Amino acid sequence: MRVFVTGGAGFIGSHLADRLVARGDDVVLLDNLQTGRRENIAHLIEPGAVEFVEGSVLDRGLVRELCSGADVVVHLASAVGVRLVIERPLESLLGNVRGADIVSEAATEAGARLLFASTSEIYGKVSDDCLNEHSDRIVGSPQTARWGYATAKVFGEMLAYGYHRSGGAETIVVRFFNTVGPRQTGTYGMVIPRLVGQALIDENLTVYGDGRQTRCFGHVADAIDAVTGLLDGGPELCGRPFNVGNRNNEISIADLAQRIIDRTGSRSKIRLVPYDEVFGDGFEELGKRKPDTSALRNAIGWEPTRDIDTVIDDVVRHLAVMRDSLPSRLYGSRTRDREPSRELTDEAS
Ligand code: UDP
Repeated sequence: MRVFVTGGAGFIGSHLADRLVARGDDVVLLDNLQTGRRENIAHLIEPGAVEFVEGSVLDRGLVRELCSGADVVVHLASAVGVRLVIERPLESLLGNVRGADIVSEAATEAGARLLFASTSEIYGKVSDDCLNEHSDRIVGSPQTARWGYATAKVFGEMLAYGYHRSGGAETIVVRFFNTVGPRQTGTYGMVIPRLVGQALIDENLTVYGDGRQTRCFGHVADAIDAVTGLLDGGPELCGRPFNVGNRNNEISIADLAQRIIDRTGSRSKIRLVPYDEVFGDGFEELGKRKPDTSALRNAIGWEPTRDIDTVIDDVVRHLAVMRDSLPSRLYGSRTRDREPSRELTDEAS
């Protein structure tokens, strides 16, 4: 099978490329290397296991060319990470909207199956026990930058459904819930690589808010099992969204931070940082986000199998060998986050 992956040098894209190459697919990766890294796929480029094209999904001619001849297109390229979305709202919004437009049109023209990467963020502020694919969405004001990302991803989803309904295109939407693993960068948020990185260099772990908010962290290897299952599945999967995440790995961020300190043996402490010091005024947090993944289980028999300790340990192993470069990986070109903060109270943990 010939598979074209946008965002192929990114966190999820590079793991998908590894899996596709291992099973003998013909793989083409496109990435502008803005948040993706060449080092994520160097081991595939050097032996010629993949074709890598450095370029943008906004280059319509290039995307058309790469889609033609592909059996499957996986559109992962996206400005992602709460911090990046808030710091560069227009770039994130336009990149996601235009990228979805260009890639879905080109994939449809080429007659390829399209897998569009969406996000749990589209559910907005709903904190129901488990979110299923039909849950209503509650997003905040369009003046709040955070919701631009959800809005752009919903636009991409609706294009995918539209191409399926109107022309029978084979489009499938995957909504990733807090997917984590090696190669994920903590630069733009992404709590686990950030806190693990801080623990490894004995810096205090920055827990935002009171730390009682919970997330369900899914291992990237489980997510790749889901994606390949969807790529290989029958036509009944098309025109539908599927949640991908791990409801068994629900944990509060304060407990997560403590677990990371324990598993790394770090001397770091936990510091609580108010949201407005990180994101400015008006930031909206989600108390809880938990996926119902029964639709995917019923469709292809998929279930996540990696627990939270496996997720943490795999990130620790990956970051431990790059200790010297961790400050720049965690904080980018910004001065290191040493926001005024207060110690975690027992109540919050
Ligand atoms: N978070 C935190 N410290 C950090 C980065 C993130 O406490 O250094 C929190 C963040 O406020 C959120 C959770 O961790 O409650 C998950 O954040 P992430 O950006 O990984 O994902 P999302 O907010 O999209 O669920």
